[in-house]
Amino acid sequence: MQVFEKAPAKINLTLDVLSKRPDGYHEVEMIMTTVDLADRLGFTELDEDKIEIISDSKYVPNDKRNLAYRAAALFKKTYQIKKGIRITIDKYIPVSAGLAGGSSDAAATLRALNQLWSLNIPASELADIGVQIGSDVAFCVYNSTAVVRGRGEIITELSAPPACWVVLAKPSIGVSTPTVFQDLNLADIKHPNTELMISSIEADDYQLMTQHLGNVLEQVTFAHHQEVAQIKDRLKNSGADAVLMSGSGPTVYGLTRHQSRAKRMYNSLRGFCQEVFIVRMLGYDKT
Ligand code: ATP
Repeated sequence: MQVFEKAPAKINLTLDVLSKRPDGYHEVEMIMTTVDLADRLGFTELDEDKIEIISDSKYVPNDKRNLAYRAAALFKKTYQIKKGIRITIDKYIPVSAGLAGGSSDAAATLRALNQLWSLNIPASELADIGVQIGSDVAFCVYNSTAVVRGRGEIITELSAPPACWVVLAKPSIGVSTPTVFQDLNLADIKHPNTELMISSIEADDYQLMTQHLGNVLEQVTFAHHQEVAQIKDRLKNSGADAVLMSGSGPTVYGLTRHQSRAKRMYNSLRGFCQEVFIVRMLGYDKT
């Protein structure tokens, strides 16, 4: 028995940090959506009780450090499944990019095993398992557009954002998410207007959406890596209606409604960045 699952990348339309909690986690409020750039995962049932990961990416571990492995292990333990699973991962999402590639692979694993073993577990329960693996996994279980609060576990789904093109540019540097959060000065941040972003999505108002992109982690990452700020400027100057860093970076994206302009943005970034993609905004699962 075999099933296949797509694991799309996510971008932040907003990312706000409200407070630091006594348990050490940050209280976040962010709007996330998916774009049409996805890893492809295949799942084959094994008679022997083991988990195998097969991936051709040199950046992704093929053992229990892989987030898809951790998702499978937790799923099997939670529902007491004694069968094994072979997971093949074709990586298309850049790794450590702020695009939640690993979280999306973990979420795809939870959805696929639910299907493979015909358990009919609701998405909300899969999301509860997901949160134990990583803070973006719960969102990725839904594959839609949502306001994400708490430390990633409180999900309020929204409609799909206005249709547009997204040009993603990932410089070849690594950004440490814990360091970025550590260096964030909560007293000195300009909060995005989450409510207006929600309104723009609900009203399908592209203009309004482009006016309210915001990510409080940008300034911290820019301070450490000037090239990320430079890429943002370059994208803006090449015709994007709005530009933002996703997650803790280093990927920056620009929005446009015109495919010809998306190509111009792509061409302007290609010489600067190792990885550049033109994709559609998705916002809901099209698989
Ligand atoms: P986020 O936006 O959720 O912070 P990210 O895009 O910055 O995520 P990922 O690509 O998810 O980062 O990878 C982060 C780390 O997780 C890397 O060190 C990578 O080796 C590890 N990892 C484990 N499993 C996977 C996987 N299936 N795909 C990608 N990375 C994985």
